[in-house]
Amino acid sequence: MFDNAKSWPFSEAAALQKEHGPFPEDALVRFETGFGPSGLPHIGTFSEVARTTWVMNAFKAQTGKNAELIAFSDDMDGLRKVPLNIPNPELVAPHLGKPLSSIPDPFGCCESYSAHMNNKLCAFLDAFGFTYRFQSSTAAYRGGDFDEGLRKIAQKHDAIRDLITATLREENRETWSPFMPVCPNCGRVYTTRVVRCDGEAATVDYACDGTFGAVTGCGHTGTMPVTGGHVKVGWKVDWALRWYSYGIHYEMYGKDLIESARLSARICTLLGKKPPAGLFYEMFLDENGEKISKSVGKGLT
Ligand SMILES: [Zn+2]
Ligand SMILES: [Zn+2]
Repeated sequence: MFDNAKSWPFSEAAALQKEHGPFPEDALVRFETGFGPSGLPHIGTFSEVARTTWVMNAFKAQTGKNAELIAFSDDMDGLRKVPLNIPNPELVAPHLGKPLSSIPDPFGCCESYSAHMNNKLCAFLDAFGFTYRFQSSTAAYRGGDFDEGLRKIAQKHDAIRDLITATLREENRETWSPFMPVCPNCGRVYTTRVVRCDGEAATVDYACDGTFGAVTGCGHTGTMPVTGGHVKVGWKVDWALRWYSYGIHYEMYGKDLIESARLSARICTLLGKKPPAGLFYEMFLDENGEKISKSVGKGLT
C-alpha cells in the first residue's frame, strides 16, 4: 500500500497531517471541492474531484481515519450571463442576476436552474464511482448551517472590509461589503449593496440600486438579517465561510486562485478557525490553451 508513498497524493496527505494533526481517534476529516452550477459539469470538474479523492484515499491509507469529501455547489451565486449551450435561453434571460436556485430550469424538468445542474453533477460523479456528500449552498444558507459564521462576519465586518478593499481598485472600495443581500422585491443578488452593517444585531441595511449588465436594480431598500439565506457572502468570503462552518481540513484550488485562497485563509483565521491545507494545480486547458469555462458551453454531457 505504501509503495506509492512518495507520489504527490501521499505527500499531500502527509502535509495535511502535519498541518492539522494529530487527529482524535473518532475524527471525521473533511475534504471539499466546489462546483459552479451555472453550467454542466466538465472535464475540469472531474479532475478536481479525482485529485482530491486521491489525496483523501492516501490520507485514509496513512492514518486509518474517517474522511469525507463534500461536493459543494454554489447555487446561491447569481447568473451572470445566459450560457450558449442551454435550451430556451429566453426563459432564463429575464432572471439574470438572481441566484441560480431561484431561476427556472431551462430544460423544464427540475425545480430550478441549479437543481438541474446539481442533478447532472451528481449523475456525473456517480458515473465515475466517486464517494462524496453533495451540499447545496442554498440549502446550507436557508437551513442555518452558516448562521453562526454569518454572525461572526457581521461582527468582524470592518476588519474583513479592510483586508479585502486593500486589494481592490480605488473605485470599487467604497461600496464593498462581505454581504450581498438578495433583494426581497426583485429577487436579484447582483443589483444590491449594503448601506450599513449592524454587527451586534447581525442585520444589514440594503439598497437595490445597482446596475449589472443591462439589468438595473428595482430601487427597494430595507433592513434584513444576515442569517437564514437573506444574504449571501461574496467571492473570497464564501470560501472562508464554508471552511469555518464545515471545519474543512483540505481543499485544492486552481493556480489562478492562489491569491484568493490566501485572502480566504486570512478571513477564516479572523473568524477564529484554522484554514484548510491545500494544493494549487495547473488549470485544465482546452485545445486552444484557454481555461475551460462553464459559461461558454463546453460541457461533457
Ligand atoms: Zn431539469
Ligand atoms: Zn430589487
